[in-house]
Amino acid sequence: MATSRARHAPGTRNGRLAVLDPATGAAFDDAPDQAPDELDALVDRAHAAWHGWRSDPAARTTALRAAADAVEAAGADLAPLLTREQGKPLAESHAEVARTAARLRYFAELAPERRPITDGRPVRSEVRWRPLGPVAAIVPWNFPLQLAAAKFAPALAAGNTMVLKPSPFTPLATRLLGSVLSAALPEDVLTVVTGREPLGARLASHPGIRHVTFTGSVPTGRAVAAGAAASLAQVTLELGGNDAAILLDDVDVPRIAERLFWAAFRNCGQVCMAVKRVYAPTRLHSQVVEALAQYARTVVVGPGLDPGTQLGPVNNAPQLARVERYTTRALADGARAAAGGHRLDRPGHFFAPTILTDVPPGSPVVTEEQFGPVLPVLPYRSLDEAVEAANATGFGLGGSVWGTDPDRAEAVAELLECGTAWINHHAELSLAQPFAGIKDSGVGVAGGPWGFYGNLRPFVVHRPREESP
Ligand code: NAD
Repeated sequence: MATSRARHAPGTRNGRLAVLDPATGAAFDDAPDQAPDELDALVDRAHAAWHGWRSDPAARTTALRAAADAVEAAGADLAPLLTREQGKPLAESHAEVARTAARLRYFAELAPERRPITDGRPVRSEVRWRPLGPVAAIVPWNFPLQLAAAKFAPALAAGNTMVLKPSPFTPLATRLLGSVLSAALPEDVLTVVTGREPLGARLASHPGIRHVTFTGSVPTGRAVAAGAAASLAQVTLELGGNDAAILLDDVDVPRIAERLFWAAFRNCGQVCMAVKRVYAPTRLHSQVVEALAQYARTVVVGPGLDPGTQLGPVNNAPQLARVERYTTRALADGARAAAGGHRLDRPGHFFAPTILTDVPPGSPVVTEEQFGPVLPVLPYRSLDEAVEAANATGFGLGGSVWGTDPDRAEAVAELLECGTAWINHHAELSLAQPFAGIKDSGVGVAGGPWGFYGNLRPFVVHRPREESP
């Protein structure tokens, strides 16, 4: 199986980017297919806007608070549009809009701290912080609004301006968000660009950009880092994951089954830090498989705009083909689908929630990132074996340990090679925490004060002590 992600961009219609509804597979709207050459003027304008924006922190705080209010007020327009192009249930889109506003509010209140350096020398030195300049943000299609906000809220709060490029699969809600924000922000502080490749590649390597902050797959992350090397722009990469959940032998299976299921299947499994593999003790393995499969069979799959829908479609056709490929290969290699295992026979990009058992441990559905509504459940004999298997991929985003003794679970969590480990839940993040995958899952740190300072450079002033007042 090919390890690189199939990257078929959406087509164009009338020279514009056609946007498909994943619940039908049909185009329902379009967006500008901007040419890479347009970036020169836009980055120049972002640079010009930077001078005013960086100079007045109090005005920035006021503008970002107003931006948060504006996003909330536009929720009734943003959420259905997000569901239409992305596929997720409407309630999840509303939650994503709320998280977008929350990010603006959180970062609006952060300010860099000045710190004196006291090293005994007769010099009074102080560390201060300066913004970098125009920042490029490139984001994927799974959480278009909140991932964009995770980039623009800290970057703008720190005094930078930004050119933001959403995925060509989900340009519309981001464009609407851009126009909502433009009511609260000075002109050219945040510019949204939409189009197909090589728009992102050109943005990442643009000489006027001082920081490239990217969320997406590992192969694209490598290309972005290589592109940014040309201008020596700072790079932050939030990349793929293949999170393991280890169930301990004292786990209460009926109690955790539903929570574990949604830790894997929320947003149709299209979450970088979703549970992608479950390791269960041999004694409990079939009970875990059956509990998850039984729950999977009750889940209502349908269009995100239908009120009863719990699980929407996969976002796009290449991603659906990828999920199907991984599943078919596992089944051909001897796995069994305890639930699902196939596309749904209806229009749109629907795949049945799938629980796999008897999966050969080296199967790509276990070792790679399938990023869809599929969950392999693997048995283990010893805890050492489980931890070794959990750590055996190139990814290191998150992981979790589940059991009735949280201290014991936490001791096992300490052994996981990842950036965030959870006990008895998975994928919950605080706005105030650092978010940083290790190994192939990331470069740099996002989130909390760490993400804020990632948009600043230290600036040090030295002066002899006798010059001080
Ligand atoms: P992707 O890498 O295909 O695309 C991400 C973005 O990069 C899109 O906007 C795309 O248009 C753009 N792009 C494509 N080629 C480019 C190039 N050569 N140069 C610059 N930009 C380019 O990823 P995807 O399929 O949109 O998203 C799914 C991936 O995102 C998964 O691997 C998932 O794990 C990852 N992800 C990671 C996080 C995290 O925080 N670590 C969060 C969400 C998603």
